[in-house]
Formats: sequence, structure tokens, C-alpha cells
Amino acid sequence: MKIGDIELLPVTDGTVWNDGGGAFGLVPKTTWEKLLPCDSCNRIPMVLRCIVIRTPQATILVETGMGDKVTPEMAALNNVHLSRPDGWLLDSLATQGISPNDVDIVLLTHLHSDHSGGSTRIIDGELVPTFPRAQYWVQEREWEDAHHLNERTRGTYFGFNYDPLEQAKQLRLLNGDASVTQGVRLVTAPGHTRGLQIVTIESGGQTAVFLGDAAFFHWQIEKLAWVSAYDIDPNTNIETKRIWQKWLAERQALILFQHDPMIIAGKLIVESNRYKVEAVLQA
Ligand SMILES: [Zn+2]
Repeated sequence: MKIGDIELLPVTDGTVWNDGGGAFGLVPKTTWEKLLPCDSCNRIPMVLRCIVIRTPQATILVETGMGDKVTPEMAALNNVHLSRPDGWLLDSLATQGISPNDVDIVLLTHLHSDHSGGSTRIIDGELVPTFPRAQYWVQEREWEDAHHLNERTRGTYFGFNYDPLEQAKQLRLLNGDASVTQGVRLVTAPGHTRGLQIVTIESGGQTAVFLGDAAFFHWQIEKLAWVSAYDIDPNTNIETKRIWQKWLAERQALILFQHDPMIIAGKLIVESNRYKVEAVLQA
């Protein structure tokens, strides 16, 4: 995909099968299972999609998936199944001809384990940044929350996924919206977490947006009330989505979905007075 002179390459860390009630929150199973059928353990597929943004200035990776440090015990505890028929993130990057050394910047929308897990890995018994040259960009608020856990958040924030970035001096903490390179911006979008940031790409009069977990699936940007049970503050996420819903439809921006197993990219249109996502690129 191209946005002006910026290239967008979807890559993946595989698919995580998670309890459907987590992603769909208060939406009844009788409604969501018609859209996304679950397996015999009530799990639905959530793709761990990441995006490579190639600009004339830099190779940028958005998100790092769950990574290769998930133990069978951690997976069993959370009723999680990780499916990776084509390997993990580094294999997916390799098919695009990208090695860990090629990545200049990693943008993390937030630090939940399915977004930051591939940021570090173990080499020769030592925990190190997966992308040895990259600066990793995170909101300071997210960093704070990831280091002040409570009973609800401690199941998804693991220091081993991000603390080595600080030790290696590869961490860049942001205080609000930020410009990354020409045409690429980070915009704060609180709700799912307080420090969530989404990525906008603008070039040649075209716009693309990577929503992160503001909307896991395309249904969640069509319907404001559809928010996940993982959201720290669902009411704030509804207000965040209200702003973006209008903005995305007005600009006819290309929306990139992180976890959607059906639609990689789509546009938000209005049909019979309702917002609807029209697929541009199907999974
Ligand atoms: Zn997620």
C-alpha cells in the first residue's frame, strides 16, 4: 500500500486466540459470534498485525506483537492459544526483506503484552532489544502506568518486554502528540489505556491511520458503544472514537486494523445514516 511517497507494509506476529468476551465486552455473545465465530474454548482470533512504514527518511515499525517469550504456562493461565503457521514477527519482516538492523524507529501504541512483547528477546541468555539500532517511542503516561500496576493491569504489563529498552538507551518517552518523520505523526487517544497513541500517515494528499486498540476490529469503529472489556476507561474511549469516527469519514482516510482477522485496511463510509467500514484490503 502507498500513501503518497510513503510505503505501508502489513506484517504479522501471528494470531492470538483469546476469550471473545475480552474483545467484545458488554456485547452479547449471541451477537458477536455471528460476526466472528469462536472455537470450542470460546476463543476468537486476534491478529497480531504490525505495520512497516517506509518513508524517504526512515524505516519505522509500528508495534511488535507478543514476541517469542510467551511460556506455555502464561498461555494456559489466560486461555490463550498462539497460532503462527508462518513464524513470528521477525519471519514476517524477513519475507519483506527487512532485518532487525534495518529498523530505525519502533512506535509502540501502548505497552500491553500483545503490542510490546516482540520489543525484546533473549539472546545468549540475555534480555536485549530486538531491534538493536532502533529508538522505541512510547508515551510517558503509558510508561508510568506500566510501572504502577494494580490487580487488573498486572496481567498484561511485563517489565521484561520494555525495561531493557531504557537500559540500552533506546527509549524515547513522549509527552503528548509528536511528529516522527515528515508525514508520520503520533496522536494521543486515551481510553483503552491512558497513554494510548495512534499513528497517522499523510502524504500526497492521502491519509492513513493505525488505530491500535482504540478499535480492535472494524465493528468497533462503526459502533461507538462496542468497546472491549480490556479498556481501562471505556467511556473515554467512546469519546476518543467519536472524534476519530468523524475525522476518518470526512477525510476518507485508510484505516489500518491491528487485530481484525477479516479486514487489514478499510474506509469509513456513511450508509443509511450509519457508519460502515468498506474493505480496501482483506486479510
Ligand atoms: Zn491489543
